[in-house]
Amino acid sequence: MFWWREEVRPGVTVAFTDTDAGNLALHVGDDAGDVMARRARLETASGLGGRSFQYMSQVHGNAVAFIDGTAEAPTADAMVSTGQPLAVMVADCVPVVLAGDGAAGPVLGVAHAGRPGVASGVVPAVVAEMRERGAQDIAAWIGPSICGKCYEVPEALRADVAATVPATWAETSWGTPALDLPAGVRAQLGALGVPVEYSGGCTKDTEALFSYRRQQQTGRFAGLIWTHD
Ligand SMILES: [Zn+2]
Repeated sequence: MFWWREEVRPGVTVAFTDTDAGNLALHVGDDAGDVMARRARLETASGLGGRSFQYMSQVHGNAVAFIDGTAEAPTADAMVSTGQPLAVMVADCVPVVLAGDGAAGPVLGVAHAGRPGVASGVVPAVVAEMRERGAQDIAAWIGPSICGKCYEVPEALRADVAATVPATWAETSWGTPALDLPAGVRAQLGALGVPVEYSGGCTKDTEALFSYRRQQQTGRFAGLIWTHD
């Protein structure tokens, strides 16, 4: 069910699911009833006690939605809340989960950082929103995603993204142009003084994780954060 799960602060847990949790996305041609049943099973396994994870309709942009109570999935690639459990779905893109201390309790954040999101700054945008909501001492957890040795892209695309985020410049293990998106995310967080407490491995190399590049037609796993009550 969980690829990685840890109580990262007293009363706050971060987790990343694996293929045992199954596909959690409604937009990849899977039966909606099956997806909702898996989401419910995940909420039970997480001990949410009747609460639900807030998902979002991800569009590879850099919009951040502030979540105040359960809402329809916002069209956004990042969310911030002051307690509502949050979920970000990926299969090779970088799932970023964040937590900070607010005046009245933890401030939570998630971001979906694919190639367009890294280039357009979705990670700095979610950190800015969290700070606007009063978060201090923000830390980040980066889930499994496709690594720089596997994520082959055309030369012009590498040049384009690396011009904005130099840390993404990479070569595949077979010597062709590539992008290292997790390295780009780590650089963006580092520039903002946000420490990275966990950085997961490569989805393409790991059978227990969904990978778009490995499987094409594939499900989505999730990065999650929740408070314990
Ligand atoms: Zn790899």
